[in-house]
Amino acid sequence: MPAVPELAGYAVSEQSSAGRVVPEPRPKARGEFQRDRDRIIHSTAFRRLEYKTQVFVNHEGDLFRTRLTHSIEVAQIARSIARALRVNDDLTEAIALAHDLGHTPFGHAGQDALNECMADFGGFEHNLQSLRIVDKLEERYGAFDGLNLMFETRAGILKHCSPARARELGDIGSRFLADRRPSLEAQICNLADEIAYNNHDVDDGLRSGLIEVEQMEAVSLYARHCRSASADFPGLRGRRLIHETVRRMIDALVTDLLAETARRLADSGVASPADVAAAPLLAGFSAEMHAENRELKSFLRDNLYRHYRVQRMTTKARRIVRDLFGAFHSDVRLLPTEYRARADREGAPRAIADYIAGMTDRYAVKEHRRLFAVGMD
Ligand code: MG
Repeated sequence: MPAVPELAGYAVSEQSSAGRVVPEPRPKARGEFQRDRDRIIHSTAFRRLEYKTQVFVNHEGDLFRTRLTHSIEVAQIARSIARALRVNDDLTEAIALAHDLGHTPFGHAGQDALNECMADFGGFEHNLQSLRIVDKLEERYGAFDGLNLMFETRAGILKHCSPARARELGDIGSRFLADRRPSLEAQICNLADEIAYNNHDVDDGLRSGLIEVEQMEAVSLYARHCRSASADFPGLRGRRLIHETVRRMIDALVTDLLAETARRLADSGVASPADVAAAPLLAGFSAEMHAENRELKSFLRDNLYRHYRVQRMTTKARRIVRDLFGAFHSDVRLLPTEYRARADREGAPRAIADYIAGMTDRYAVKEHRRLFAVGMD
C-alpha cells in the first residue's frame, strides 16, 4: 500500500490555517480537518440528506441516488484526486461531505421555489444555507452554535456568493470581493461533484428507463467507453455493460483531471495556498475532455432533467414549497415552537426558509398534507 504522501506546499495545512472562530484545544488523536469531517458526519443535516432528492424523488425507488449517496460519491472521487495531487484530503473530504447540506427538499426545484418566495427577504441559496447550517443552525455543542469548523472548510463550502452578501459575511466572504480563487481542495470538490452527478445520473437515468442506451450512444464519452468495454468483454450486456461503461467514464475523467491539473500546477509554479488564491483556476479538465463533458451535461439536461416525468415532479415540488411558505408566512403561529422562537429573533421569512430547507422530501409532503388536506390529521 502506498504510504500517505506528504502535503505539497500549495496544500492547505493546519499550520497555514486561519483556524476556528471559537478557539478549541487540539484534538488528541486526529488532525483538525479530520475533526471537521467527523463533525459533519455526526450532524443532523447530514443524516437528512438520506431523504432528500438528487434527481429522483426519494420514494421513487430504493436504488436511485439521494443527496447522501451523492455526497459520499463526491467525497470518494474528491479524496482520490486530492491524495494524488498531494493536497489536503481530510479538508477535501470535509468540504465534499458538507457541500449539499443546505439543499432544500426536491432538489433544484425546491431551491428555486424557496428562492422566489424569499425574493423580498434576502433570497435563498443552498451554498449559503450550507454555511449557515455549519456556522449556526446545528445544535450539538455546549460551547458554540453550529459546528465551529476550520476557516478553510467553511470557505470551501461557500462556493458562490454575491458581492453584497460577501460584504455581510465578513472574513469568509472576502475572497469574492478580492477576486481570489478557492483553495485547490475546494476546486477539486467542485469538479468531483460534477463527475459524480453526471455519471450517476447516466446510471440512474438508464435504470429508471427515462433514457435509453441507444440515446446514450450519441454521446461521445459514453460511446467510446461502451465500445472499449465491449471489446474487452465481448459477451457483456445490459446493466453490467452500463456499469462497466460508467466506471470507465469516471476513471477517464479523473485521470484527465489529474494530468491537466498537475500540468497547470507545474506551469504556474504555485508554492503556497496564497499563490493558489492569486492564480487562475488550477484544477480542470483538458480542452478535449472539457468538450466531451459538456456534451454529456447538455445531453442530460435535454433528455433527463427536462423529461416530462421529472418535470411533473418539479412542478409538484415547487407547488409544495410555495404553499408551505405561503401558509407559514400568512400565519407564523402555524410554525413549530422552536421556529416561532427563531422567527422572533431573526424575522419570520428566514425562520420559515430554515424550516422548509431542513425538511426531507417526505416530511415536506407530510407537512403539506397536514396543512392543506381536508381531514383530521
Ligand atoms: Mg452536489
